[in-house]
Amino acid sequence: MRPERFDSWLKVDTKGLFCRPGGFHIDPHGAVRRAVITHGHSDHARPGHEAVLATEETLAIMRARLGEGAPRRPQATAYGEPLTIGDVTVTLFPAGHVLGSAQVLIEYKGKRAVVSGDYKRSADPTCAPFALVPCDLFVTEATFALPVFQHGDARAEVAKLLKSVEQFPERAHVVGAYGLGKTQRVIAHLREAGYERPIYLHGALQACCDLYESFGVRLGALRPATGAKRDDLKGAIVLAPPSAIADRWSRRLPDPVTAFASGWMRVRARARQQSVELPLVISDHADWRELTETIAETGAEEIWVTHGREDALLHHIETTGRRGRALALIGREDEDQ
Ligand SMILES: [Zn+2]
Ligand SMILES: [Zn+2]
Repeated sequence: MRPERFDSWLKVDTKGLFCRPGGFHIDPHGAVRRAVITHGHSDHARPGHEAVLATEETLAIMRARLGEGAPRRPQATAYGEPLTIGDVTVTLFPAGHVLGSAQVLIEYKGKRAVVSGDYKRSADPTCAPFALVPCDLFVTEATFALPVFQHGDARAEVAKLLKSVEQFPERAHVVGAYGLGKTQRVIAHLREAGYERPIYLHGALQACCDLYESFGVRLGALRPATGAKRDDLKGAIVLAPPSAIADRWSRRLPDPVTAFASGWMRVRARARQQSVELPLVISDHADWRELTETIAETGAEEIWVTHGREDALLHHIETTGRRGRALALIGREDEDQ
C-alpha cells in the first residue's frame, strides 16, 4: 500500500502553504481569503487578508502593526481549543517564540500535521512555553539549523550585560534588539535578574512594549531615551532597534557600549562586522539541538523544512530514518537580519 501523501492535501501554491480540505493558507506571503497566522512577525503576518484565525495576542499585534492592512474578519482562538474548518480540525499550541505565537495542528483523515511557525524551547518569561505536539508531519523552521548554533542560556548573557554596566558606570549601554519579542524578553530577563532601574527605549520600541503590558507582561519602569538627560543615561541600559545601534541616534548617548541581542552573535565575524562590542547570544529561534530534539520528540515520520539553511537539517533528518523535504516558501527571513 502506498503511504498517505501529505502533499495531496497540504501544498505550496503561489501564496504559500495551503491546506486544501480546510480552504486556508498558513502564514501566506500574499493576501488571501482565509489564513491561519502563527505569530505577528512581518514575514508571517502579512497585510491584506480577509479572514484570519490566530491567537488574540497575534491579532492585536497585527492590528497594531498593519493598520489598514489588518485582517478584515479576525477570529481569535485560544491555545488547545479544536476548531472545525472545512474538512479539517485546527488547534493552536504555544510555540514559545513571541507573545501569542502558535504552532498549528491540522488533523485530517486520521493524520496529524503540525506547522511550527517559528519556535524555541528555552525559557522566555514573556510568552507561553513551547508545547510538544505529537504528529505525523512536522513543518519546522530552520533559521539556526547548523551544529555551530548553540544558543546557551539567555540569562547568562543578560548577566554579562549587567556586569558590563557595573564595570562602566559612566557609559550608556545600548542594546540592539528586535522590537517584537526580543526587546521584551531582554527587559523581562533583566527584571528577573533583579535590575530595577528604569530602562530607556528608542521610540520605535515603545508600542510593542505597551502591547505586551496590556496582555499582563510586566516590564517595570520604561522611559523614552529621546529627551532624557545625558546624566540620567550614564550607566543606563538603552534598548534600540538593531539598525539604530550603529547610527547617529546612538552617538548622542554618553560614550555608548554597543551590544546586540541575537542568535547571530554566536558568529564572531558578524558581531565585528556590525561593530558590536558586547555580543549577547539571545535567540527567539531554536538552535541546532532544539531543532533536532524537537523533530525526534514529535515522532513525525515526515519533516518539511522552511526558512533557509535546510541542507544540514535535511541530511540529519534522512540519517535518522525520516523523510525530509525543503519547502520553498517565499519571503521568510529572520527578524534580526
Ligand atoms: Zn518569528
Ligand atoms: Zn520567521
